[in-house]
Amino acid sequence: MGMFFLVNYLQKDLSFKIIEYHWFHLVSPQGIFKPKILDLPLSITTAPKGPYDDSFNQEGFLAYKYRGINPEHQDNVGLRKALNKYVPLIYFHGIVPGKYLAVWPVYIIADDPSNLTFTVAVDDCEAIYKEPSQVREGAYARRAYITTTVRARLHQRGFRERVLVAYRSQCAFCRLKHLELLDAAHIIPDIESESMPTVDNGIALCKLHHAAFDSFILGINPDYTIEVREDVLEEKEWPNASAWFKRFT
Ligand SMILES: [Zn+2]
Repeated sequence: MGMFFLVNYLQKDLSFKIIEYHWFHLVSPQGIFKPKILDLPLSITTAPKGPYDDSFNQEGFLAYKYRGINPEHQDNVGLRKALNKYVPLIYFHGIVPGKYLAVWPVYIIADDPSNLTFTVAVDDCEAIYKEPSQVREGAYARRAYITTTVRARLHQRGFRERVLVAYRSQCAFCRLKHLELLDAAHIIPDIESESMPTVDNGIALCKLHHAAFDSFILGINPDYTIEVREDVLEEKEWPNASAWFKRFT
């Protein structure tokens, strides 16, 4: 993954305190990751999935599957300990192969052995500095709100990444390849109920062509051919405008 995390800990078997530093990966391909030097897991990971395969349950929290089917597998036991000790974890949400979004802090808030699933909630960063009794105050409503907000951000970011991959990270009109100037636009606006956050409804556009698309200067036919508004093509005051737009049709 190329991501590392610096941890220090106290050498307890010495009469004085020595701070040692260890570098290690934050993520494990197994999903639940516990570095050897820690007693509890550090992170959980979900693999990139299709847009319809949502990992969140009806209450809006993340439903995280056990590792395997044995509730006593050491990784599952580790998450259960994190639940009982109110220990925060890092959640890596796979958006496309090789790309993850990190969410911190997340807490295991429930364990359901019959469905081999843990329930995971995102919490406020301030929660990690509080005593467990303080963290529990109003925790359900706060975590439900924060998790819902984070979930929406994960979906938006996932949509962007999948659309950019589908369009090879270039504007569908002018082929511009600068990522910082590219948007993933919805072909059917996302305020319309039938608009789905799927690649089929997305198109990669540079900032200028996104604005032109939203202003109905440019349009896309059902066969994905590009249409430029007629009055713009016939503009006399700025003849370069029509030539410029015609280049891409
Ligand atoms: Zn463009």
